[in-house]
Amino acid sequence: MPRILAFTLSAMALFSTSVRADLVVLQYHHVSDSTPPATSTSVSLFEAQLEMIDDLGLEVVPLLSGTRTALQESNEANAIALTFDDAYDSVYTTAAPILASRSYPYTVFVNTNAVGRPGYMTWDQLEELAGREGVTLANHSTDHGHLPRKPGESSRQWQKRVQESLDGAQQELRQRLDINTPMFAYPYGEFDAALEAHLSDRGWYGYSQHSGAIGIHSAPTRLPRFPMADAYGQLDSLENKLLSRAFPVEAEDLPDGVITRNPPILEFALDDPLTVSGLNCFASGMGRIAVNATDDGRARVQAPEAFDSRRFRYNCTHPADDGRFYWLSQPWLDLSQPED
Ligand SMILES: [Zn+2]
Repeated sequence: MPRILAFTLSAMALFSTSVRADLVVLQYHHVSDSTPPATSTSVSLFEAQLEMIDDLGLEVVPLLSGTRTALQESNEANAIALTFDDAYDSVYTTAAPILASRSYPYTVFVNTNAVGRPGYMTWDQLEELAGREGVTLANHSTDHGHLPRKPGESSRQWQKRVQESLDGAQQELRQRLDINTPMFAYPYGEFDAALEAHLSDRGWYGYSQHSGAIGIHSAPTRLPRFPMADAYGQLDSLENKLLSRAFPVEAEDLPDGVITRNPPILEFALDDPLTVSGLNCFASGMGRIAVNATDDGRARVQAPEAFDSRRFRYNCTHPADDGRFYWLSQPWLDLSQPED
């Protein structure tokens, strides 16, 4: 199946550049063999991942235009966007030349207070990158803080903190580099509904760290990305991710990720031809978990035991009729757990 699919997609890419819609966004931090494993993609794996994208005939598109298209159109073939969080220096020294050799566009999310610190790019390097064809810089906050409202934090304190972090970074990018991109990557992938409202007010897209493809049902302030560090980006699972389809569930039907009970319950409606029995769901650190149907036919997912981490996910897939998978990821956030 993969070989036939690859041929089909290659043919589609050859004969039509407009036949694409779902957007698969890959999230990187370091591309290096010597940085912390949890946030690093080895150079050889990075090159192999790009090779697979090419082999599958998938087009790599700029994140902003790709997101806009994916939110508006539903089609068969996927496009891919590449993103790098934190503006680490290995993106400049290692990833950028590899990407340039393929003419692949990409986006770097910059947490502005860290620029120029050891291990991070300098403002001069960012300016130079921003001047290259296909490179976009965007906002990753000033201080890389945990931005959802903390327990005990007053509304006023929280509003002030979020405004300073969101608008401070946007202002710094604008003043130093004349950049004003309407995109934001949540530090640690953490968000809540009130933070999403801040992004909506500004007309920004919000990107997180739960997996799945972006499609017409996605919420603009809750956009998924597939983490590509070594632990997640291995080639044996990459093809299914690159070819994954946006899960056809309305974003409004999915809960705010801040948990009010542990383990949390995820419930959502399935439209034909998707069925509850066709779902495969997994919980972080627990493997496969049961899916049940409610009395009114909705899917109901709950892990068998409580989680003891700050962030975790339920991931569900459902086969599509073309050998690909619809992919849904629900991120959860337990604010009672310590920040990292
Ligand atoms: Zn980050």
